[in-house]
Amino acid sequence: MKEVSLGVRNFLKSQPRMVLRPSKSSALTLEGLYEFAAVDEHGNETFGSYNLRIEIPENFPREMPTVFEVGQKIPRKPENHVNLDGSLCLGSPLRLKLLTDSDKTLLGFASNCIFPFLYAHSLGRFLFGELSHGLAGLIEDYKDMLDVQTERQVVQFFTLASLRRRIANKRKCPCGCDRRLGVCEFRHKINSFRSIAPRSWFATHKAYIERQI
Ligand SMILES: [Zn+2]
Repeated sequence: MKEVSLGVRNFLKSQPRMVLRPSKSSALTLEGLYEFAAVDEHGNETFGSYNLRIEIPENFPREMPTVFEVGQKIPRKPENHVNLDGSLCLGSPLRLKLLTDSDKTLLGFASNCIFPFLYAHSLGRFLFGELSHGLAGLIEDYKDMLDVQTERQVVQFFTLASLRRRIANKRKCPCGCDRRLGVCEFRHKINSFRSIAPRSWFATHKAYIERQI
């Protein structure tokens, strides 16, 4: 795996208390103390440090890393958006894609996905507020991102995003307008997501959602 292109070295430079660990479960595993300092709009400084294990899949950045909080600093409760195995719910896969679109390196993932979660936790807040955990949270996040009301519409979105544009445009629009996608404004929403992930990614993720529901 090309560590340099993934930005692992730059990430480790920015996080000197984290190290590479041998691992069987992922292509690359980083462990250690993740530290940050942040200043809010009132000039208040916050320092945070969390013991993390970051498992980076072989196909990163197509698939995102899984981040575990291993210092037991965050109680493993669904309302904290932490799974029982300690993995953090950093956001839905499509949201993580969106957040890392401008910087697809590990450093980009850390600053746009890991840091906001931990910063919010260190302030006693939760990044996702009242958003549910697990599958319900995933679907809620997509309804919110796509501005649709039903799970069915979410699945239709992923189906259309997995198809070629001209084929998708001939299909019925998921917004409820009763027209073809190609003549509805909703196509712009779908097209805006096409640039952040390939069609095959939408197909894989759609299959994942359908297995869950
Ligand atoms: Zn429509």
